[in-house]
Amino acid sequence: MNDLSTQIPRLREAVIQRLVAQAPQPAPLTTSEADALVTRIKALLKAKDAVLVVHFYVDAALQKLAEETGGRVSDSLDMADFGSRHAAKTLVVIGVRFMGETAKILSPEKTVLMPTLQAECSLDLGCPAEDFAAFCDQHPDRTVVVYANTSAAVKARADWIVTSSNALKIVSHLKEQGEKILWAPDRHLGRYIQEQTGADMLLWQGECVVHDEFSAEGLRELLREHPDAEVLVHPESPKAVVQMAHAVGSTSQLIKAASESKADTLIVATDRGIFYKMQQAAPGKKLIAAPTLNRGTCNVCAHCPWMAMNGLQNLLAALENPQGHEVEVDTAIIERARLPIERMLAFSRGQGLVTAQPKD
Ligand code: SF4
Repeated sequence: MNDLSTQIPRLREAVIQRLVAQAPQPAPLTTSEADALVTRIKALLKAKDAVLVVHFYVDAALQKLAEETGGRVSDSLDMADFGSRHAAKTLVVIGVRFMGETAKILSPEKTVLMPTLQAECSLDLGCPAEDFAAFCDQHPDRTVVVYANTSAAVKARADWIVTSSNALKIVSHLKEQGEKILWAPDRHLGRYIQEQTGADMLLWQGECVVHDEFSAEGLRELLREHPDAEVLVHPESPKAVVQMAHAVGSTSQLIKAASESKADTLIVATDRGIFYKMQQAAPGKKLIAAPTLNRGTCNVCAHCPWMAMNGLQNLLAALENPQGHEVEVDTAIIERARLPIERMLAFSRGQGLVTAQPKD
């Protein structure tokens, strides 16, 4: 293995782990403090013609607030689609930075705010634009397929953007066209897609700090305690965990699988922030977070430290004073990165993979 994609610099891993440890979490709130913040946020959303676009992995209070105010709680594909079609002048994206950048790329005329611009993603951090450009330059014969969890500059180098909701269909489509693929950055998802489609894929070697920690050994042990449970797994997880799954899929697909499952107990290998929506879809079922490596001493314990940086406090701060909360992307990068994202959305709409009906 002699290309850049197979050289995961130890230094970069160490930097990512340090950033995980340093991600500041909002202080806990009393019920009356939270209620007061919610009241002020609702008033500001109306006054500023703003809508919340929220990921499944953030705090349940933020997901609930989006539901109550005509916003959207969803996966990254649907968030992009919803934001691009909604008439609000301001999109408030609650997730991690690449989601805010995607919203800005698709809606450059809108103001895009985030509670914090410091919410990173290990996949994004592990795929710097310059290294990625060099990797692409080494393989000019390959179609560049990039997962949404990347910077705007990396997306600008892509032919296609994909999310975990549409990656299988898009890669199958490309394989049918006879194309060889350069895939980045998640190595587990890339390997899963490769196995499912049989496509010729060269993989960048990045990983998600949350999903990479799920443990097959711990899962086997947990299944001995809950022999009738079904296992739902996001394909950013290691192969040994995916192989134990009753259902594998994106966050939206896992929520659907939970609602359709006949089992009373579900073990879920993705960020436990998803439990808020999954419990709505599967009321009465017992949801258990899949075990991580070194049970009890995991680094992230099934919850993304960067998603957890979002709270009611910094959401209110963003609405009160956008300075330091507004997403900005270079115009030239917007123009280039927009093409593969639009391509993905057009394909996904054609396949019925996005069904958002935003209010005007
Ligand atoms: S859960 Fe993983 S893939 Fe999602 S934002 Fe966090 S680090 Fe990135």
